[in-house]
Amino acid sequence: MEIDFSDDEITGMNCTCPYCQDEGYDCKHMVAVILALINPNFKEIDVKKLVESASDEQRTQFLQKVLENNYSLALQFKTLIEESV
Ligand SMILES: [Zn+2]
Repeated sequence: MEIDFSDDEITGMNCTCPYCQDEGYDCKHMVAVILALINPNFKEIDVKKLVESASDEQRTQFLQKVLENNYSLALQFKTLIEESV
């Protein structure tokens, strides 16, 4: 993972993960590095661990809240459920 700076401007980023190399997208590694630069207290969240540690009720409530506020995610979830029926 590389970031090129000139003064305070980011002039280039390069990451070796497949997401960046194959698709040319900005990946979560880049986001994590930038967030860490902006906020020294930033820690990457272990999503898998976090989700596993939540109760069923917490997961359900949170998912509901997120999907109510995000049409695109709600649509993705709907597709997922409908495909698995
Ligand atoms: Zn990456």
